[in-house]
Amino acid sequence: MYNVRSKIATDFIDNEEILETIKYAENNKNNRILIDKILCKARLMKGISHREAAVLLECTLQDKNEEIYALAKEIKEKFYGNRIVMFAPLYLSNYCINGCTYCPYHHGNKHIARKKLSQEDIKREVIALQDLGHKRLALETGEDPIYSPIEYVLESIKTIYSIKHKNGAIRRVNVNIAATSVENYKKLKEVGIGTYILFQETYNKEQYEILHPTGPKHNYEYHTEAMDRAMEGGIDDVGLGVLFGLNMYRYDFIGLLMHAEHLEASMGVGPHTISVPRIRPADDINPNDFENAISDEIFSKIVAALRIAVPYTGLIISTRESQKTREKLLELGISQISGASCTSVGGYAEKEDENSAQFEVNDTRTLDEIVSWLIDKEHIPSFCTACYREGRTGDRFMNLIKTGKIANCCGPNALLTLKEYLNDYASTETKRKGGKFILKELNKLENIEVKKMIEDRLTEIDKGIRDFRI
Ligand code: SF4
Ligand code: SF4
Repeated sequence: MYNVRSKIATDFIDNEEILETIKYAENNKNNRILIDKILCKARLMKGISHREAAVLLECTLQDKNEEIYALAKEIKEKFYGNRIVMFAPLYLSNYCINGCTYCPYHHGNKHIARKKLSQEDIKREVIALQDLGHKRLALETGEDPIYSPIEYVLESIKTIYSIKHKNGAIRRVNVNIAATSVENYKKLKEVGIGTYILFQETYNKEQYEILHPTGPKHNYEYHTEAMDRAMEGGIDDVGLGVLFGLNMYRYDFIGLLMHAEHLEASMGVGPHTISVPRIRPADDINPNDFENAISDEIFSKIVAALRIAVPYTGLIISTRESQKTREKLLELGISQISGASCTSVGGYAEKEDENSAQFEVNDTRTLDEIVSWLIDKEHIPSFCTACYREGRTGDRFMNLIKTGKIANCCGPNALLTLKEYLNDYASTETKRKGGKFILKELNKLENIEVKKMIEDRLTEIDKGIRDFRI
């Protein structure tokens, strides 16, 4: 029985409710009156329900879809301005005891190189990441109580935060590790993680159990209830995601929104981020084996409908997607992207000789190329990590974003961190272009005092001072 506040996975992700929602959206396909009513509500920018979002997702009316895309863009700009936050993944280990059928790290794959980074390896990787200009990482590791127990993850996070190389520093470590206990989430909180990320992969219990035939991840309930435990353990910011292409996209889209609604209703804070990966080729994995691959068109619609449904949630796209797709999705509400990513264990400090990648990267450009491209598209590449470091997390963050105030921090912080990037890491051409762009964006700041403060800080950055934030 559907119950958004229940702590039981199969209540807040109720199969019947999802199936009925799919039917409701089909029955109302291209119902102009209903779509207009939903869009009218969506324009208040306070979000819409999973049922309403499902109707928008189903719509094939060209004029209405254009309205949906335009609204998604407007919402992104209202809440976050034109900044795009940058991050990179760091894979610690690919030993894994699970049998996920879509991932090359699955236990049964005998021909992938298995690796685990030592603390010395991590130092080298982090220095290489800092030398690229990254300030924000997403830590990834397979589930293995022997090769990557929680103690190893905690030690690795401490190592990452401790490295100060030239003007570089990793200022926020987000963590993507397997579902775990409240006690372990408390430990992650204590070492200062940013967002705890865990992808659901699919919300369809039956399919989930088939896709995860062995290992602890087989337990659908334990996995699906992980975010509740993480929040109980004191983690303020959690990140959801499904791997589109594993199950019917409609089912997972609705499940994702029901999960967001559940967190908001039962924990008082919705997801900090939602990631939208699509299945990619990898060692031992052929995406064609999965019948539910989705087209670029549907994928765009999913992103736009998510942006409208959960305006307060950051939307993340990785280098799994091509430059062309990322370009399109940036106009539909994406607020964070990865860049210059290495999806194998090690590989930033030295190119690896054996393949240990989790998936093939589609966008292989350097960080400098991505920064330059974002500037050309009038997005501010941002290396900002201010909120978490200023205690603006969980409900404090949500209060600021719901009142539209966070954009007042995002824009200035984006300019300051872009300036740091240009001074420390950019090519001559990107530096030239970026310098002009910062002046142009600075002139858009309406608050004279803030503008003056940012001008002063930009000058201080030229003098070698770093890490300003508001
Ligand atoms: Fe292991 Fe995660 Fe890959 Fe599953 S998806 S095999 S848990 S690394
Ligand atoms: Fe993110 Fe906060 Fe920085 Fe905005 S000000 S980019 S929300 S960390």
